[in-house]
Amino acid sequence: MSTRFTAPNNISQTPEIKTEKNNHNRITGFFGENVFKGKTAREFLSDEAFKSLMASIKAGHKIDRSMANQIANGIRAWAESKHVTHFTHWFQPLTGSTAEKHDSFFTIKSDGTAIEEFDGAALIQQEPDASSFPSGGLRATFEARGYTAWDPSSPAFIMEIGNGKTLCIPTIFISYTGESLDYKAPLLKALEALNNSAVEVCNYFDRNVTRVAATLGWEQEYFVVDEGLFNARPDLVLCGRTVFGHAPAKGQQLEDHYFGSIPERVYAFMRDFETESYKLGIPLRTRHNEVAPAQFECAPIFEEVSIAVDHNSLLMDVMDRVARRHKLRVLLHEKPFAGINGSGKHNNWSMATDTGVNLLAPGKTPKTNLMFLTFFVNIIKAVHDYDDVLRASIASANNDHRLGANEAPPAIISVFIGEYLTKVLHEIKERVTDKMDETDESLLKIDIHRSIPELLLDNTDRNRTSPFAFTGNKFEFRAVGSTANCANAMTVLNTIMADTLKQFKKDVDALIEKGEKKEIAIMHVIREYIVASERILFEGDGYSNAWEKEAEKRGLLNIKTTPLALDAMITKKAKHLFESNKVYNHSELEARHEIELEKYIKKVQIESRIMGEIASSHILPAAIRYQNLIATNIKGLKDAGLKEDTYSCQKQMLEKISEHISNVSVQVETMIEARKKANAIDNTRKKAIAYQEKVKDAYFDKIRYHVDKLELLVDDKEWNLPKYREILFLR
Ligand code: ADP
Ligand code: MG
Repeated sequence: MSTRFTAPNNISQTPEIKTEKNNHNRITGFFGENVFKGKTAREFLSDEAFKSLMASIKAGHKIDRSMANQIANGIRAWAESKHVTHFTHWFQPLTGSTAEKHDSFFTIKSDGTAIEEFDGAALIQQEPDASSFPSGGLRATFEARGYTAWDPSSPAFIMEIGNGKTLCIPTIFISYTGESLDYKAPLLKALEALNNSAVEVCNYFDRNVTRVAATLGWEQEYFVVDEGLFNARPDLVLCGRTVFGHAPAKGQQLEDHYFGSIPERVYAFMRDFETESYKLGIPLRTRHNEVAPAQFECAPIFEEVSIAVDHNSLLMDVMDRVARRHKLRVLLHEKPFAGINGSGKHNNWSMATDTGVNLLAPGKTPKTNLMFLTFFVNIIKAVHDYDDVLRASIASANNDHRLGANEAPPAIISVFIGEYLTKVLHEIKERVTDKMDETDESLLKIDIHRSIPELLLDNTDRNRTSPFAFTGNKFEFRAVGSTANCANAMTVLNTIMADTLKQFKKDVDALIEKGEKKEIAIMHVIREYIVASERILFEGDGYSNAWEKEAEKRGLLNIKTTPLALDAMITKKAKHLFESNKVYNHSELEARHEIELEKYIKKVQIESRIMGEIASSHILPAAIRYQNLIATNIKGLKDAGLKEDTYSCQKQMLEKISEHISNVSVQVETMIEARKKANAIDNTRKKAIAYQEKVKDAYFDKIRYHVDKLELLVDDKEWNLPKYREILFLR
């Protein structure tokens, strides 16, 4: 029997799973206890080793080899004090999940003695069997193997899985010839590029700035469903989303879920995964219900981008494992249920200097205001110039279901800045003229700080339909998908900002060389950038059809599907952008493009197969059983000599059901044919487009329509797939 019928009963009998007891009343009592940094590192390392480690972290350099053994020993001593027996190099390959291969400290020396060992070499570098990770042909053309190398800016941590504990060394993953094979390596390069250009521009305003770090605070949306119901849905198990399912009588129209009270079972799960996260140093701050039934969100306090990216990957992993402990499943998919809000991962992004200034927070003096305006306008210009690359950075088969659907930002990239800053930019555009000179200081004194109340008003009353919105002291990139590794979007955003700032510096310096005063030169370039990029600014309703038309008039891109959106990664423009900023070389870009296309193909292929399978082995048998029942009923009534109008109703039902049955069956067959044709295509891009147009677009909705109709018609007890109302409302 399908667990559809047993699960509801089990839910009411599930005892509350005791959340793990920790002996602290306060989060600070155990926050970061499983992370090797700060006081812990100080305690387990010699002065010399500690200093060397700190120096590497600060400079972003590899660990000094001569210190590696000492550091490794310190880390092992700490890990063993916590009963850890194994270690792994933890990395973020392009599959989208995290990877680890556990080795034990335990070893047997050549003379036969068994000891525990973790030497510097094992800490710094490993050679995992890389052949099963996607490389887009990179390893084929260069070297067969790849290696992982510790990125000391990310501290070692201990992952607790059940009763087992593993020491994890966060690493980057690269080929022998140095090409990046993961998400992390290019991200670190992009952050370095940003640091370089941003420091130079900051120095116009403050000579003391020597480092600029991008900051990220992500907001993770997710669904939580019962495990029994989940297991009875092959589509959820294999694709993470439902390919069928009629809308429930009650959806999200009452809007009673958002900020409602959190169901107790889910609450226990949340507390549990939060505890695990705190131990790992993930600074979670908020938790609440989201708009859709069974949808929730959590967000941490922002951190430097590379750490925030690690923490998000870790969190997704922790959530998944902890949910199982509670007989729940967490769905991170961008669109698990049709007709109901999907999930995103808003990326709140800004930049901070080592002098403690948030570069996207309006300053307190005219000088710092000008610095704010500089960075603010540069990011608008960057998004304008590279909207195609930014769009590509969030493209995936999953996110295609969400972008442009009625609750998610559209596939058109635009920037929202609020009424007040719109006015400020307008004023600059109007008033900065060639005649402007030092006597016209009023402009340089646009006092944004004094207008903070106006800014806050914009901020609280803000537009939620924009893919890229200024929210007071940071930009919020909302189009990122909930399963995505933030590194992809962050690599692109920081690279385009680095590039734009570099150009800005050149443009300003050129004017200064011509004899212009620095502040005036900056104002002129700012004005020029506003004029050049203002068409990307949009304050209205991003979900409306009117915006699509308006955007088209403005010549903005609106690429709705992944295979086409990805083209932007390998244009001449993109190659120049990434190569000149030392983030990706040509072959790395080509490889990534190939990998993303392949991921797309596989996703659609799996969904299409699971659709066919469920339709043939769940839906049709149930529908045919019910069809038989009605047919027998009609025959019985007829045989008993009843008039035709006494069973005309049944006949109508039988006709409808039969029509849906034949539609499902025929469409599934032809979809399989379409898949075969697509599979025969050699060129990856063309194959991806065929999968999108000829398989997904041509059949998914059509088949679903008939299946969902059958769901309403067929006897409920014949239907062994849990229905939306059960998955979404039973907890
Ligand atoms: P909302 O849901 O209203 O957008 P949240 O409070 O849920 O707001 O999320 C805001 C996120 O933005 C948090 O993760 C927060 O830490 C982050 N954030 C705040 N300031 C910055 C900043 N300067 N840089 C990056 N992220 C920031
Ligand atoms: Mg938000």
